[in-house]
Amino acid sequence: MENEKQVKLPDWTWEFHGHRCPFMPIGYRMGAIALRELGIEKVKDHGAFALPEMGVGHPQTCMMDGVMSATGCTYGKLMMERLNYGKVASIVHAPGKGAVRVYLESDFQDELGKEEFFAYRKRGVEPSDIPSEVTERAVKIVLETPEDDMFKIEKLPDFKFSRPKGSFAKVKCSKCGEYVFERYVRTVEGEPVCIPCSGFTESRLDALKAIQ
Ligand SMILES: [Zn+2]
Ligand SMILES: [Zn+2]
Repeated sequence: MENEKQVKLPDWTWEFHGHRCPFMPIGYRMGAIALRELGIEKVKDHGAFALPEMGVGHPQTCMMDGVMSATGCTYGKLMMERLNYGKVASIVHAPGKGAVRVYLESDFQDELGKEEFFAYRKRGVEPSDIPSEVTERAVKIVLETPEDDMFKIEKLPDFKFSRPKGSFAKVKCSKCGEYVFERYVRTVEGEPVCIPCSGFTESRLDALKAIQ
């Protein structure tokens, strides 16, 4: 029999994420709470930003796939950006409607952290290789714990975030012949070039390092 207290996630969210784990559904719940608090539906286009406080080089970043799934604020639409605070929290900002921050309570993090799932993870076992009864025990806790015991929810009245206005304008790089969106065109000896052809700046790998 189904447990009526359980939060339900659509099956596609698990498929999209790739494995069963406790942190994707934590993010899904965070996203759903933020939508409710802002009084908005899941966004189809560009109506809201999700700004998780996650960084790199720490666990539990699976949360971000849950936030994207619940809110529609996807990375590809450029509606998601990490704040790099290394915290299990996410802000959702809907311009004109406000901003909400949802934090996974420290006590809950401590409790959940006792689950055997995390002992496997600390030993470097991938989530899809962890025995499913171990994973499902942790997932069940996440789906059944009442919201008040799990999350701190706060409104951020002064929060502002926006992006530069988009432009469709593009030009062909005079060296490689590939199109470049106008904002990123460089000029070398009077000719338009792309950044990798410009010699102005770091390699692609250095550019990646700079954003980590
Ligand atoms: Zn995961
Ligand atoms: Zn080029």
